[in-house]
This record gives sequence, C-alpha cells and structure tokens, in this order.
Amino acid sequence: MENRYRVLLEEVKIGPVVAPNRFYQVPHCTGMGYGSPNTLAAMREVKAEGGWGVVCTEYCSIHPSSDDTPFPHASIWDNADVKAQGMMVDKVHAHGSLAGIQLWHGGSDISNLHSREITLGPQSRPASGIDPVQSAAMDKRDIRALRSWHRAAAGRAVEAGFDLVYVYATHGYLLSQFLSPSNKRSDEYGGSLENRVRLVRELLEETREVLGDRCALAIRLSSDGGETDGEPDSGEQREVVSLLGDLPDLWDINIHDYSYEMGSSRFVKEAALEDYVSYVKSMTGKPVVGVGRFTSPDTMLRQVESGVLDLIGCARPSIADPFLPRKVKEGRIDDIRECIGCNICYAGDAKGNPITCTQNPSMGEEWRRGWHPEFISPRASAKRILVVGGGPAGLEAARALGARGYEVALAERSSELGGRVSAESKLPGLAEWGRVRDWRVGQIRKMDNVSVYLESDVDSEQVAEFGADCVAIATGAKWRHDGIGRWHETEIQGWREATVVTPDDLFAGVEIKDEALIYDDDFYYMGGVLAEMLALRGVSVTLVTSESLVSPWTQNTEEQPRVQRRLIELGVRIEVNTVVEALSEGEAKLACAFTGRERTVEAPTVVMVTSRKPDDVLYSSLVESEQTIRIGDCRAPGTIAACVRSGHRYAQEMDAAVDECQGGAVPFLREEPKLFG
Ligand code: ADP
Ligand code: SF4
Repeated sequence: MENRYRVLLEEVKIGPVVAPNRFYQVPHCTGMGYGSPNTLAAMREVKAEGGWGVVCTEYCSIHPSSDDTPFPHASIWDNADVKAQGMMVDKVHAHGSLAGIQLWHGGSDISNLHSREITLGPQSRPASGIDPVQSAAMDKRDIRALRSWHRAAAGRAVEAGFDLVYVYATHGYLLSQFLSPSNKRSDEYGGSLENRVRLVRELLEETREVLGDRCALAIRLSSDGGETDGEPDSGEQREVVSLLGDLPDLWDINIHDYSYEMGSSRFVKEAALEDYVSYVKSMTGKPVVGVGRFTSPDTMLRQVESGVLDLIGCARPSIADPFLPRKVKEGRIDDIRECIGCNICYAGDAKGNPITCTQNPSMGEEWRRGWHPEFISPRASAKRILVVGGGPAGLEAARALGARGYEVALAERSSELGGRVSAESKLPGLAEWGRVRDWRVGQIRKMDNVSVYLESDVDSEQVAEFGADCVAIATGAKWRHDGIGRWHETEIQGWREATVVTPDDLFAGVEIKDEALIYDDDFYYMGGVLAEMLALRGVSVTLVTSESLVSPWTQNTEEQPRVQRRLIELGVRIEVNTVVEALSEGEAKLACAFTGRERTVEAPTVVMVTSRKPDDVLYSSLVESEQTIRIGDCRAPGTIAACVRSGHRYAQEMDAAVDECQGGAVPFLREEPKLFG
C-alpha cells in the first residue's frame, strides 16, 4: 500500500548534499556540553538510526570568547573538538543521515565565566543574565578576528566531516546583535540595515569559501522582529532575507520570541510559527526548514504541500521520539510517542544538567546506561510481575516489562488509567500531557502478556494471593493538607481549624465558591495553574508564595513570564515574598519572607500546594522483601518525567545485576577526564 506520507520521505537537495528525507533534527541544546562527547554522539546516533535525515549539533562555540557557562554547549575550538565532533558525525553517517553543525558566537549575551575572556559585541552591553559582566564594543580588529575564528571553525567542521555548516544569526547571539535595529554603530557594521547585515554576509561568503562544494551552507535566522503575541512583525527581516538572497543553501527559520518558538504546550500549540515563517519560501529558491513542535505527520505534510516548508524541523518531537521518521515510513503512526510540550527537556540546559524527557526516558541514557528508545533486552526469566497503580510510573513499568516479554498484571484502583496524568491533563492548557498515558495505554493494548485490571483496589492479602514473583508498588502520592514543605518543616499552626483543600481534593471535585488563598511552596506549575483554573471559574484568587516570582521553576521551562502575565490578566492577586505563617477558621496569618512582619487576611478556603506524601499504605502493609519495591511518586514524589523514568528503570533492571538501593558501584558510565599528571 502506498504510504500517504511519501512526500515526507522524499530526498531534498541542499546545495552540494542531499538529505535522504524531509525529517530534519534542527540544532537543539542538550545540557551535555563539550565535556560529554560519548554521551552526545550516542544520543545523536539514535536520532539518525530513527530516520532523521539531517541531525545537527547544538550551539557549537567557535572560540573561547563564546562561552555560555553554566549552560552547557558544544565547541569546535581545537583538534580535540574535531575528534569529538567527528565521532558524532561518523555515527550519524553510519545510518545514512547528514550531520550539521551550528557555529555559534554568543556576543554580548553571555558571560564567559569559564574561559574568562572579555565578552564582545557590536556595542558595549551588559550580559543578558544578571552576571556583572559587560561586553567590549568590537573594533575593526575584533571583527577581523571574529571572521578569522569563524573561518577556522568552519575549516575544523569540514575536517570533522560535517555535511552542513550553519551561520547562526538569531536567538539574540552575536550576529543577531549586529542585525538588530539597536545596533547604532557609526561604522559600516551598524546603523543602516545594509550595514547591519554586512557581517552576516561576510561570514556567509567566507564560510562558503571554506566549504567549497563539499558541504552545504545554512543560515539560521528569525523571520520576525517583534513580540509574538500580536501580529507577525516581519518588516525588516523580509529585507534581510532579500539582501542575503540565495547566498545560503538552506534557510533555517525561527522567530524572535524564544518563549513562543519553543513555547510549552500550555501556551503554544503545534505549527504555531506557520504565519510567521510562511513568507520566506516565496523569497528564496533555496530550501527552507522551520519548527513548530510537529508531532502529527498530517501537519507535517500540510507544511510541505502548502509550501510553508521544505524540511520539517524538529527538536522536541525528535527528543520524545527519536524513531518518529521510521514510524512514519513504516506506517506505524499510532506508535509515535508524541511530545507533550512540557519543556522538561529544555530545563536540562537551563539548569546545566544533561537533557531528560518526560516521554522518552532513554534520552541522555543512550551511552551511559545503554538504554534505547525502541529496543529493550528480552526478559531474562519467566517471572510474573504485579504492578499496582496505573499512573505514569506503573504504566511505564508495565509497558517496558511487557516489551521485554515478562508476564505482567497491572492493577488500578480507579476506572481509568493515568493516575496523576489523567487529573493534571484536565488543568487549563495541559491537555497534551495526557499523551503520557495515551501512548503507554496504546502500547500495552497490543501486548498479550500484559493484563490490565481496572477498579481493582489491591490490599496485602490480594498481593499475597496473586503470588507474583515481583511486585512494583506505584500507588503515587497525595498533596499534604498540613503545610509541611520547603518553608515549614512542621505543620502550619491551626491548619485543622481552617478549610484547607489540596490539588487532589480539587481533582476529586471539591468546589470552591467565592474566594481561595493558594499557598504555593512547591514553585513548579501546580500553584499557578490552579490559580488560573479557579480564576477562570470566577473564584477570587490570591496566590501567596515565599518566592519572588509566581511558579518560579517554570523559568527553566521557558514559561514563567507567561504564567505570571496570565494570572495578572485574570485578576489573581499575587503576594510574593510571603509565607502562610498560621491558619485559623476563615483567616490566614501571612508573614514577610524577609522580615517576618505579620498581618492577618481573610481566607475562607486555603489551597495548600506545599509537598506530597507518598501513598505507601499498601507498601507498608506488605512483608518486606527484595521482590517488592516502590516506584514513582510512591517512593519519592517528583515530576511526571521522574515517575516515567522510575518505572522504566524498574523494567530495565528486572533480572539485571544492579541494585539501585546499594549505592555501591556507579550505575552508569561517566565521561572520563583526561589526566596530565
Ligand atoms: P505515579 O505518578 O507514581 O505513577 P500516580 O499518583 O499518578 O503515581 O498514580 C498512582 C495510581 O495508583 C493512581 O491511579 C491510584 O488510583 C492507584 N492506586 C493507589 N493505591 C492503589 C491500590 N491499593 N490498588 C490499586 N491502585 C492503587
Ligand atoms: Fe517534549 Fe516534554 Fe520530552 Fe521535551 S521533555 S521533548 S517537551 S515530552
């Protein structure tokens, strides 16, 4: 039968090279950095194996004056980097894919905390974070030096074997600083648009000279200049595209507002960039690639058939499912593990730790643990395994054990699977989180060796009666009423006299009529999203938090300003730097987080979002045994990603000689530092 997505499987000529299909893994950060070459190479190889026709590096520094520490980035500074990058290239080539490298200079945006070099920019500007760093305005010598560094880096990229080399002129880094209307230099590199484009043009021309006809030349550029919540503002960028004409072999187009370009699904939906990027194809004869958190092959097809894009650019969809292209090719559309848009992957880079993914627990574990997103070793025994609890941890444990061939029984108390995912995906904007459940349920349905028992409230007698060889308790956790959390190590005084509800109570249908005081001591999404939900229902909401921002951890998922803006627009009163000190009937005593100064406010209902208590009633009633362990939130409450990972690890380590409780040997490979002693 003909594949209806055959267009996506067509080759695309990019200058002197040919992409084997239209699936293009755009450069994306990994939080791994230049110190983890094996980890990176193995991760990128899996993408190529999964069918991505082009696989790119992340932002790859061309010179020590471009150092984004503490954010991990790649580098192509010297021969050691050539070797490391070459390893990735070889692994990508082994699967018939093209390898791309994104040459990067951060300009004034960064702080050079590791290299301790002066930062450089078109003008002297403070670094974009809050580091006390300000750049030197580049003089002509600096610009000549930059050009020579870029040329040399392009040469090293060729040496490493790359097929596609980027001039990276977006995302606020050096070249976009030159392009920006704020570049008021008085020489030929600033002021008029023609002057501001000069450096990009020079780098394109010089990189082309280095690449010859061996590699393709790509430019990464934003198609608009404004904020994204209004009308697309593409005025000047259109001129940039027309000034650069057909200089590059490929246009990789994104938009100015990063929080929209890689917006979480709570705020931004699939293919949201279409209106911003669609004009580019009409202005160039060269292929265009763009992103849009594409997970649906139909949407991808539409991008190509309607002439918006030639290549389907993906970062997150390739992280959540490195085998997406292969599944499209093989007509296994139902097997695609769709990205949920939670941006946990981005939080890795934001916090300087290796990338993880909610949907794909093997992400970042390809080399160090040998985990693979599709293949898992067959069972090593005929054990029968009982998994109690059908939340993300239990579902993933059952699925992965099932994939190994074990006989699995999954028992769930309620009438539906999903646990917290089913509850949380009903919150405003979070519907796509339900994919964590849906994909796993879909996979389990195809397995004869996994039986699901709904409405099965399991107790210790039933566990004993069932007689499984191993039991995984995945019964989750419940939000606390008593206020214990980060701020309060002991119960909040008077909480029993007050009307206190938790997120779980709200999920269970408890209604708040007029007024709610939300105490957020958790700091991720829950406090903020409940404020949004209640405000949308007409409840008068006050959100109290000891932090200085609403939902502060969402800074790592590129969501925080949008969360706070939304709550302000909904009329939520926000009390930052404030703690709930004590409660009584209808009242809350609030205290300043710095001075302790107290005041009392009316609080008919308090929504307590502080911490969770593992639901280990069943576990505690069981006889202690090495064959019975807790997984997911029941062991240690965490993110959905942590629960999926916990379930996956349980399945991976079944019958393996690893005991996660022993803490003896390091349970994964580590990149080894080179010793010069
Ligand atoms: P996790 O996030 O760790 O996967 P969840 O809280 O999402 O945990 O899911 C736990 C699931 O376990 C819920 O769906 C809950 O209904 C179920 N559960 C809790 N206790 C029992 C029990 N004794 N028997 C069967 N299912 C249970
Ligand atoms: Fe998608 Fe979340 Fe995975 Fe990132 S972490 S790829 S946003 S599912």
